[in-house]
Amino acid sequence: MKRIFFCFLVAALVSGIIACATPGRLSFIPGTYRGTALGYGAGLTVEVSVDSGRILEVRVVEHTETIDLPLVALAFERIPQAIVSGQTLAVDRVAGATFTSFAITQAATDALMQSGVNMTALQQQRRARGAARRANVNITTDVVVIGAGGAGLSAAMSARQNGARVIVLEKMPMAGGNTVLVGESFNSVNPELQSQHPMNPAHHAAIQALINAPPYSAFETELQETVRGQLADHVAQNRPGLFDSVEWHMLQTYVGGDRVGKPEFIRIMAEEVVNTRHWMTENGMQWSTDPNIHIRIFTVAGGLWPRANRPAMPLGTGFIDMGVRYIQRHSDQITLKLDTRATELIVQGGRVTGVRATGPNTNYTITATRGVILATGGFGANREMRERYNKHWPSLLHAHTTNHPGAVGDGIVMAERVGANLIDMEWIQLLHAGDPRTGTLTGVLSADPAEHLMVNNNGYRFVDENARRDDMVSALLQQPDSMMWMVVDSRVFPDPHNTRTVFGATVMELIEADRAYSAATIEELAVMMGVPPENLRRSVDEFNAGVAAGVDRFGRRAWRDRIDQPPFYASLRVPTIHHTMGGVQIDTQTRVINTQGQVIPGLFAAGEVAGGLHGANRLGGNALADIHVFGRIAGASAAGNR
Ligand code: FAD
Repeated sequence: MKRIFFCFLVAALVSGIIACATPGRLSFIPGTYRGTALGYGAGLTVEVSVDSGRILEVRVVEHTETIDLPLVALAFERIPQAIVSGQTLAVDRVAGATFTSFAITQAATDALMQSGVNMTALQQQRRARGAARRANVNITTDVVVIGAGGAGLSAAMSARQNGARVIVLEKMPMAGGNTVLVGESFNSVNPELQSQHPMNPAHHAAIQALINAPPYSAFETELQETVRGQLADHVAQNRPGLFDSVEWHMLQTYVGGDRVGKPEFIRIMAEEVVNTRHWMTENGMQWSTDPNIHIRIFTVAGGLWPRANRPAMPLGTGFIDMGVRYIQRHSDQITLKLDTRATELIVQGGRVTGVRATGPNTNYTITATRGVILATGGFGANREMRERYNKHWPSLLHAHTTNHPGAVGDGIVMAERVGANLIDMEWIQLLHAGDPRTGTLTGVLSADPAEHLMVNNNGYRFVDENARRDDMVSALLQQPDSMMWMVVDSRVFPDPHNTRTVFGATVMELIEADRAYSAATIEELAVMMGVPPENLRRSVDEFNAGVAAGVDRFGRRAWRDRIDQPPFYASLRVPTIHHTMGGVQIDTQTRVINTQGQVIPGLFAAGEVAGGLHGANRLGGNALADIHVFGRIAGASAAGNR
């Protein structure tokens, strides 16, 4: 509270001084000054060095901001640079890291007030900058892509490969969206890797359970029969390693989404993702070459089968790097405009012919002669939309989210304004593994359920750790305080200083940031977690018995090793909003469908902005498959739409 008051006081003092002082040239008492402000986490301290006429350097020296979030890191880089290069405090905030941007600027203000500078002069620069006139620019291209996440970048690449000139609009200061934050799991059947992955009786049992379940549609019957035959061949021919097939991927996706997803989209995703993976590789995507097969191909939480292919670069950086580098190599035909927000689709004679957008000091009217592709992502970070559409969870108004701040459903709103139909909007995915303070996934110790144990605040297990995501979250919501602990042993972190989770952190970094605990025994770990040691001991023993038996009382079938190699690690987790399955209705060519069931000419959509594929529950790892497959199709469809 004191800090907040201090922050307001500084702001009030600054405006008071600005109001009374006389304008003049910048002149400082040379030296280095310290200033503080309230950051997102707690206090943030900045040092500003000046000589007699210039601001020389701005450094953030103390903070508790979440620097591992890319936009926060960008604010740390950009705001100090902008203050020095502009010799002003009137710097633009980094969208998506507004609070941190504001805190750095406020702390620099606090520091500069001690330097004797005429604050009005700094304010004059602000007014001069603010008064800069906005230009109105008209551009014509073939295809406009809105959004530079995975779907948008794939669409841009594919549109260009199909002969179109492309403009990509991205409202944030960097490309990436939710795609850059991903947990490195891209679902695709991959016989080369899966043949090296062991298949155990639990895998057989999982297949039997689905192929012998009562079918609900002709699609399900067809998939069951095909998979039954394929599995029989796999066994009869003594094929090495894990069974998988396109049809098994389809069957798991269909049933795992409660048969709400449309068969035609499920079929395209599963059939095309293998080709799309190769296409991505040809275009610069790199995949893990780790000697450990369980790193290269794994089951991500809620993914239900070891078919998550892991990229070589951390998180989702490899997917974005592929797209951005492609754009750089073809800059004569593709332009990426950052900090540029699409605000409206232009419709002429019933056809979408372009986009209006606002960028730094510029209003754009962009004509797209072949088509506009919406690739704006979902609405997981939009409280109002979540509240409006949610039907299956308690109120999500105040829930945390894993999503980046730009995932607010802009594309859905723009499409709806031109008559698009929306489908499956009620299906919102929560994950059980959010950070209690922020909702992000940074502190997840293990994304692979084969290697972790989950217990509630009393130290008791409460669910199959390899279950569907909606089932795990429903079970977690019944636990005391809706909180749980993820527990692993040293097998997951053979080198605690260097082994990284799929969300980019080492366990030592998590411990230092107070996001994980470590102990030499299970009982000591329990004390640190604040759970009864005898309960945690019993849960670990039960887990280890499950490894030997292959199945347990929760029906868990995904096991690898016992949890018995110290040190042991634990991190606290809560439910968090993760993905929105609903969105704009499209056809199989990604053309947007209106509320009368007709195609809206000139408008396409791909990625999380579109609904219809995942149904009631998305399998972990299927979004990366979806966005790249349908992004690629959208690019080709729009480019071919002459
Ligand atoms: P995004 O990647 O979100 O891109 C949309 C882009 O559009 C954004 O950059 C946004 O700023 C921009 N935009 C929005 N509105 C406008 C506008 N008006 N004008 C201009 N630009 C605009 N899925 C998996 O399959 N595997 C995983 O391992 C995985 N891990 C995940 C981890 C996290 C933390 C999160 C949040 C999600 C994860 N997912 C994962 C889900 C997956 O990341 C998303 O579903 C997917 O990345 C969405 O891709 P997209 O291209 O549709 O949207």
